[in-house]
Amino acid sequence: MKNNKGDGHIYSYHKGQINVSVTFILLCFGFLFIKPSFADDSQNTWQQLKGQDFIIYYRSAVPDDFVQTTMDTGEDELKRVIDNLGITSNPSWTGPRQIKIYIYKDHDDFVKNSGQAIWAHGVAFARAKTIKLYPDVAGFFDSILPHELGHIIFRDYIGFDAEVPLWFEEGVAIYQEKAKRLGSNDIVKEAIANGQFIPLTQLTGVRLYKDSNNQVVDLFYSESASAVYYLITELGEQEFYMFLQELKNGTAFVDALHKVYLRFKTTDELNQTWMEYLQG
Ligand SMILES: [Zn+2]
Repeated sequence: MKNNKGDGHIYSYHKGQINVSVTFILLCFGFLFIKPSFADDSQNTWQQLKGQDFIIYYRSAVPDDFVQTTMDTGEDELKRVIDNLGITSNPSWTGPRQIKIYIYKDHDDFVKNSGQAIWAHGVAFARAKTIKLYPDVAGFFDSILPHELGHIIFRDYIGFDAEVPLWFEEGVAIYQEKAKRLGSNDIVKEAIANGQFIPLTQLTGVRLYKDSNNQVVDLFYSESASAVYYLITELGEQEFYMFLQELKNGTAFVDALHKVYLRFKTTDELNQTWMEYLQG
């Protein structure tokens, strides 16, 4: 099973186009046919707006009020994400400062100069505390910005050595989106009913390619969202916070699961109770 250490998370806003989400998953799983690149080879210059927690770099074509709204929304969403992860007043974490947001002029500029693939709508580099996106994308403020902040704060908190399954890392990021991929539970339930469900232990190891079945791709998002949503809303926020704290302390994922939730000795056992909950 491939583990994930939180680098180069691509956000693709799913609009039902198969290529968008398939390639997103390819990257998420770490089969990097197109490696997320941090470098920006553009000759274009950046304007700059500095706030309390963010430095926003933006193209001169991006309207000032959009930049200001990104700053204001970013500050609000940052607080919300930190609160969602239960670390608002955690003395062991000092919080991230100077998260960098690059706002490209448009999709073309983003694709051409950020080194991202044509289907990408946003990307987070957790280690560099950097988010790159562009204005004219659906869900910018409600989904993409919170999602990418979720990746950055999650990793800033638990550290870069922690090995967590990708479904968990993505699920945590999706949980920060305002709509939280509504409908995910139904998609997973349907998959269980028709035999296409992928158990959590196998989810990270799934190989997806450009011509992979669209349903499998959607299933990855949906299962990630649903499983983390289940952990937080059904098994308790406090337990979830403790679980994150264990990961931060260097406890292995499965050991942390057992330590906090007691009844789960393996990911399979979590998988089983989550499935029963969905089917109940
Ligand atoms: Zn993500």
